[in-house]
Amino acid sequence: MVPLNVVFLLGACLGASLAGKHDIYSRHSVHRVSVTTENENTLIHQLETSLELDVWEHGAPPDRDYIIRVTPEQEQAFLNILDDHGIAHALRHPDVARMFEEFDEQIAEWRKSQLLRNSRIVPFENYPSYAEVNDYLEYIAAQYPDLATLVTAGPSYEGRDVKYLKISTTNFTDTSKPIYFLDATIHAREWVTTPVALYTIHRLVEDLRTEDRDLLEDIDWIILPIVNPDGFEYSRDYERLWRRTRSYNESVSVTCYGVDANRNFDVAFNTIGVSANPCAQDYPGTEPFSEPETRYVRDIMFEYLERIQMYLNIHSHGNWLLYGFGDTTLPANSLQIFHVGAAMGAAIDALKLPQARYYRVGNSAILLYPTSGSAQDYGQRIGIPFSYTLELPGYTYAFQVPPSYIQQINTETWAGLAASARLARLYYRARS
Ligand SMILES: [Zn+2]
Repeated sequence: MVPLNVVFLLGACLGASLAGKHDIYSRHSVHRVSVTTENENTLIHQLETSLELDVWEHGAPPDRDYIIRVTPEQEQAFLNILDDHGIAHALRHPDVARMFEEFDEQIAEWRKSQLLRNSRIVPFENYPSYAEVNDYLEYIAAQYPDLATLVTAGPSYEGRDVKYLKISTTNFTDTSKPIYFLDATIHAREWVTTPVALYTIHRLVEDLRTEDRDLLEDIDWIILPIVNPDGFEYSRDYERLWRRTRSYNESVSVTCYGVDANRNFDVAFNTIGVSANPCAQDYPGTEPFSEPETRYVRDIMFEYLERIQMYLNIHSHGNWLLYGFGDTTLPANSLQIFHVGAAMGAAIDALKLPQARYYRVGNSAILLYPTSGSAQDYGQRIGIPFSYTLELPGYTYAFQVPPSYIQQINTETWAGLAASARLARLYYRARS
């Protein structure tokens, strides 16, 4: 029998280790920074690189603020520079570790109440784990074999299967139909993107409404909920703010793992909007498609290139709908791309919460910042007519959108997907 005091000690140790899960972010602070001019905007971009800041949300002068996390060591120097340049800033949160502990508690409470209500976890109304996502994909494929086919693209770097669903009334045999390909969770910490992908499956398969029948009958869908399962699980278990993949390349770095998967595509690779520092958030890797996860996205695109009319790479957060190219040049059909994107943004805005921003639609480099090697640009470059990056709303919560908001984001985004799919279908039929 174990003495009582040992049991107590064990409990205390367990409690301590749980409480310390987010200790690496202890006293990291989050600041809102208001940029009013392009010069100020440029300065923040420079600081992002020179101080290796973690920008949670990119601002745009004059009315969209930055949200930036800094370490205790960086904080004073960072704020001094802002003050020297007369840039307004405000403390949003003094301790990121505490913020994440509160978020964990919210999720636990939400799961508990969902279990009480439904006697099961509803993965698209929740923050599901990788295993829960796979369970749901398998369940859909098993329950609706005439509509849904589960495909395993292959293993991630660490050996997790990257899985996607093909949804079609004709098992992809009617080659006159356009395809809508959407994926999520390419950036590990952007958790709210995963349920949005699952909810899209839910609305197409489990809860198809009469007014949406055309979306299923006229269009084939490919939905990949977790592009980056290794990073995603790592962000759940160890570092909440992990963004990159989890590959390891001893010749590059013995301490830093992974690359920014959304800079790893073979389009203007390693030119702009990337860091040469293998530990940086936007390090693109040693070569295009060094990561198996990005190769799977590429392979899906090429397998169906003739028919993929739209590609949507889903991120969080900031209410942006962006398109190519990352160097400010525009695709030949940029007006059509804007048209379809605006229809999506406007449909979402019609349902948005009062506190949410309106969506802003445009070229990613002009609206936000230059990039190279992005999924959005790659899809556009190889010939997908409508290729976008969607940045879902974060409200004021950044990556910690409370789970009670997930259903709102799901339903409004679904409305946007439906509007864009219908409009893109018109362009598909009209193509020469
Ligand atoms: Zn992202």
